Amino acid sequence: PKAKSKMPSYKGLENFRLDEKMGDGAFSNVYSAVDLSSGKPVAIKVVRKHELNASQAGDKHLNPQFKKKPRVTEVQIMRGTNHPSIVKLFSFSESPEHYFLVMELMAGGELFHQIVKLTYFSENLSRHVILQVASAIRYLHEERGVVHRDIKPENLLFERIPIIPSKNPTRRPYDEEKEDEGDFIPGVGGGGIGRVKIADFGLSKVVWNEETMTPCGTVGYTAPEIVKDERYSKSVDMWALGCVLYTLLCGFPPFYDESINVLTEKVARGYYTFLSPWWDDISRSAKDLISHLLCVDPAQRYTIDEFLAHPWCNEAPAPPPPPT
Ligand code: ADP
Ligand code: MG
Repeated sequence: PKAKSKMPSYKGLENFRLDEKMGDGAFSNVYSAVDLSSGKPVAIKVVRKHELNASQAGDKHLNPQFKKKPRVTEVQIMRGTNHPSIVKLFSFSESPEHYFLVMELMAGGELFHQIVKLTYFSENLSRHVILQVASAIRYLHEERGVVHRDIKPENLLFERIPIIPSKNPTRRPYDEEKEDEGDFIPGVGGGGIGRVKIADFGLSKVVWNEETMTPCGTVGYTAPEIVKDERYSKSVDMWALGCVLYTLLCGFPPFYDESINVLTEKVARGYYTFLSPWWDDISRSAKDLISHLLCVDPAQRYTIDEFLAHPWCNEAPAPPPPPT
């Protein structure tokens, strides 16, 4: 077993035992921990208050990723959500120096650490993962009026360490109940990958008033660019969903370049290809779906309901082969 590095102690977190660093952001650290009063495992996101403010006041050219809004929005949005594919916030507290977000522990870590590492990208497995993410996005967009704005592999977390079926899996009989728990991937043959959940609401935004289901603000006085912006802002999550699906299926992202300028240009033009040989055996239906997501015009891009209605999302996976 690897030696554990010394854990920091934070004033205000005396009720928890920090075990291991799970993630490392510019302004936050995430630890796995134990709630000493209940013995329950949790994840704690510790956000440094001051650096957050200093950076926000600072460089205008800084990547917007680094100018996150005060965590209050993140906390309010997380508090208002209740969905099996969204990481739960148990409690929130603060000290003069830090914000503490105590969350459900996603022991399996980031999606791509697991799947890319194992280079397993069957269409069934990709569908199993992406439908969970999509159902959370549908909930956010249609029921909560929330746009996440930071959907990416680092923010999609596994509930527990997935067991990806090996090339020669031990076949188990099909078990519908287990499948529901994410313990069995139909047509794949065994193992299990558990639930995938959306984390990190640090950039998310409420775009619809929940009660009236109208754009936020006084409608009659809202400028057209705001109305348009609100209408199109959900489409940023759909683009990101397309990037995640593309990457799941082939193991590399749709847009990449060593040069940030070239990369920016490729994204702006929506220039990507289904590169041979990696995409040769992937279905036309999957490619068709991706092309409706990686679509430069946000008005043409699929909405979450269009995504979920696409044939690829509704294909029944092949039944598992009989036990040998
Ligand atoms: P940031 O705003 O710094 O990106 P995140 O909320 O994305 O913060 O957390 C950073 C990283 O910490 C994530 O990418 C993930 O690896 C890990 N992490 C975050 N939340 C959890 C959690 N609930 N359980 C396990 N790991 C987590
Ligand atoms: Mg993040």
